[in-house]
Amino acid sequence: MEWDTRLIHDGQAPDPLTGAVNVPVYLSVTYRQSAPGVAKGFVYSRTGNPTRSALERALARAEGGADALAFGSGLAAVSALFMSYPSGRRIVAGDDLYHGSTRLLEVARSHGVRVDFVDTTDLENVRRAFARGPRVDLLYLETPTNPLLKVTDLRGAIRIAREGRARVAVDNTFASPVFQRPLKLGADLVVHSTTKYIGGHSDVLGGALIGRSRAFVDRLRWFQNTAGGVPSPFDCYLLLRGLRTLGVRVRRHAANAARVARFLEGHPQVSRVLYPGLPSHPGHAIARRQMDGYGGMLSAEFRGGAAAATRVARRLKLFTLGESLGGVESLVNHPARMTHRAMTPAQRRAAGIGDGLLRFSVGIEDPADLVDDLRQALDGGRP
Ligand SMILES: *Cc1c(COP(=O)(O)O)cnc(C)c1O
Repeated sequence: MEWDTRLIHDGQAPDPLTGAVNVPVYLSVTYRQSAPGVAKGFVYSRTGNPTRSALERALARAEGGADALAFGSGLAAVSALFMSYPSGRRIVAGDDLYHGSTRLLEVARSHGVRVDFVDTTDLENVRRAFARGPRVDLLYLETPTNPLLKVTDLRGAIRIAREGRARVAVDNTFASPVFQRPLKLGADLVVHSTTKYIGGHSDVLGGALIGRSRAFVDRLRWFQNTAGGVPSPFDCYLLLRGLRTLGVRVRRHAANAARVARFLEGHPQVSRVLYPGLPSHPGHAIARRQMDGYGGMLSAEFRGGAAAATRVARRLKLFTLGESLGGVESLVNHPARMTHRAMTPAQRRAAGIGDGLLRFSVGIEDPADLVDDLRQALDGGRP
């Protein structure tokens, strides 16, 4: 079966007991045992829950993995992964990760894990990090990144990690499995904030770890159960529901984003547009090689700095000013004052996040309405 068919049918067969076409929400925390230690597969809901199992199977299939683990948030998933590396181990990570992941690596560092942050968009930096210092246990990547949509060459980075006998984990939240399958490119683990495109409706927090080998996932399962950051059965249901429409939604997000990117690139008030689908984007050639589409996220730098960006953000009517991304509705975010305000101005400048930068999570509305909204906000036709 093709990917879109499997997304709807695989592992989500009608309930054998009742014929229900949707996976039931199993709220039971405990399960009857026929004799001490003899259960039907489920014992206690933190350890395993039938609705969660269905979600984990579906997530594993979506990414082409052997098995998956679902968590109560993206960061709960990331923290279970980092927690599995004891003091003395070494992690090399991108220097432009989702801010919460960077914070978790700082926590790992405070517990004695050696962490090196490098700009992974230039593989020479990755090679150098592997060449000096002790053996690397994990290479942690994110591509495309937030908010500059920087692209890392996954095949190249994975080759370096293989030579150094390190595992590779890739945060695939921005691309989603519709456009990028890191496991197929040789990664060991995919990380998701399922809060974003997989949930897709801005109504559920969730995270996932999806592994190429069952043994690696089983090792991480111990940490999932030990730290206990699991999702509720109802959250699992919402994510299963989101997964079924992931393919159609994400392709529409990308088509709309391409349209918005072209409009912004041609506007005199915009100094640069960052969208991996534009030939002007520094990561375009690599994105073309390793992705099947360019996603629904883009950023644009407005002439006139923070004042101009604020004016545009406030004038937009269809794009809601808010954090998060990946929902059906269009959102706009001002990184300098919102998602990236915890960084100092010097850190933001060094990272290339200008005060005039706006990040757009382009929704699945009619693209003509989105462009009209941007036009009125930029040209100031209406107050
Ligand atoms: C949102 C996000 C996370 C964190 O996920 P939460 O569900 O908010 O905990 C991690 N990585 C990326 C790329 C994200 O966008």
